[in-house]
Amino acid sequence: MSDKLVALVTGANQGIGLQIAKDLTAHGFTVLVGSRSFEKGEGAAKSIGTDAHALQLDVTDAASVAEAAERIRTEFGRLDVLINNAGISHAGKPGMPLSEAAKSGMLTTASLDDVRAVFETNVFGIIAVTQAMLPLLREAPAARIVTVGSTAGSLTWNSDPTNEHRAMFGTYSASKTASHAVTLAFAFALESEGIKVSIACPGFTSTALNNFAGTRTVEQGAREAVRLALLGADGPTGTFSDEDGPVAW
Ligand code: NAP
Repeated sequence: MSDKLVALVTGANQGIGLQIAKDLTAHGFTVLVGSRSFEKGEGAAKSIGTDAHALQLDVTDAASVAEAAERIRTEFGRLDVLINNAGISHAGKPGMPLSEAAKSGMLTTASLDDVRAVFETNVFGIIAVTQAMLPLLREAPAARIVTVGSTAGSLTWNSDPTNEHRAMFGTYSASKTASHAVTLAFAFALESEGIKVSIACPGFTSTALNNFAGTRTVEQGAREAVRLALLGADGPTGTFSDEDGPVAW
């Protein structure tokens, strides 16, 4: 069994996930770089250093999720932190301009297949991976689970007619709302076991998800998730926050 704390970050081959993985190694963790392409995961892990290891993990593939959990048990013997970071903004090919992605996700016209594909990754992926990792997390002395959510999915913020994002509220935003809800369900269910479960919004960050239209750096985007991964025993559970503090649901 690894002497060091072990963290798994899903979708860590690039973007905010890669930065979270880097930051957690800097905090002394052995980090498993979840990546649906093992090669991309290996490249990312190498770029971080010897405390990072690639782990093939497609959150929409039940066999991949089960094999990842099995590999963590046999090779590392523990899991202390799970970061549910993997996400997609639309069902189409990468490189779609943000405005086009938002348009394709409007629920008045989006195809159900596309809506299902986004929910498969952003919502069911969280449930599948969290369930698969729970036996390991339950054995850890102070397990933490963090979902990378979004203010785009805040029903309170988007209910405000002056919120400009409201015009883009579609498949992606609804999937992030649902991701907050399922994460909260895990928080409530695991509260009595001392496992803290939180949701972090990275802010509008320059990554492939928005075709690099974001205004924040990945270093900034990773900070809140990393803070929540390191919560002490006296920290809260079931919260939704960004770097500025609590975010309305
Ligand atoms: P990104 O650079 O596109 O990273 C997304 C990551 O998720 C990639 O590594 C991608 O892998 C992975 N992924 C997609 N589908 C997957 C699957 N089925 N199984 C496993 N991994 C999968 O975008 P990002 O901005 O860093 O996104 C990370 C998280 O931040 C997402 O949950 C997103 O919703 C959230 N977020 C981002 C922003 C923002 O402004 N960027 C704002 C709020 C929230 P591939 O390389 O294989 O595609």
